Amino acid sequence: MEILLHTCCGPCTLYPVKEIRKEGSSALVYFYNPNIHPFREYERRIEALETASDKFKFPVLWDQSGYGLRDWLNQIGTRRDPDERCPVCYRIRLEATARKTVKLGLPAFSTTLLYSRYQRHDLIRNMGKELASAYGIEFYYQDFRNGWIEGIEISKRLGIYRQPYCGCIYSEEERYIKRAKRLQNRILAKSMKEKTKWDK
Ligand code: SF4
Repeated sequence: MEILLHTCCGPCTLYPVKEIRKEGSSALVYFYNPNIHPFREYERRIEALETASDKFKFPVLWDQSGYGLRDWLNQIGTRRDPDERCPVCYRIRLEATARKTVKLGLPAFSTTLLYSRYQRHDLIRNMGKELASAYGIEFYYQDFRNGWIEGIEISKRLGIYRQPYCGCIYSEEERYIKRAKRLQNRILAKSMKEKTKWDK
């Protein structure tokens, strides 16, 4: 069976592709992620997937819509909290994958989001099943988190870039919130010192 495997990035693709192959199926990897910001990070993740595809020998179908910051922000709207924005973000990507699966005449789709220990696994699985039923196709489910360590080891061995945050500008802010606070405190202390100097 050929599966359209939505990918979020290169490193997360390695283990799922390996597992799908092990079962005698094949994966056509589909890159559609308007949630990755800013542009240089988006570019870097595409380059990482190109490297993974070359080294691990899997085909990639690149979505033609390009860098999707504005479109993604429009769809997310005022949902800033992860509990509100992540389900919408999953749906944007999974629904596009389900539609593409039908368009290509493939029987099933899946996603590398099922590999991450940091994503809402049950929500992704249920959404995948719901969309599969709505589009009359199959959702290939496997708990790819079982290969978390193995996937990291393969990506390190192949020298593939591993990103430090999920993707959107909000997740980047959440990742560095403590660092931003430390920076703010440092700048504040510095400006207080300079103010005292000028007050003399
Ligand atoms: S944290 Fe990740 S899943 Fe959640 S909205 Fe941002 S990019 Fe999407």
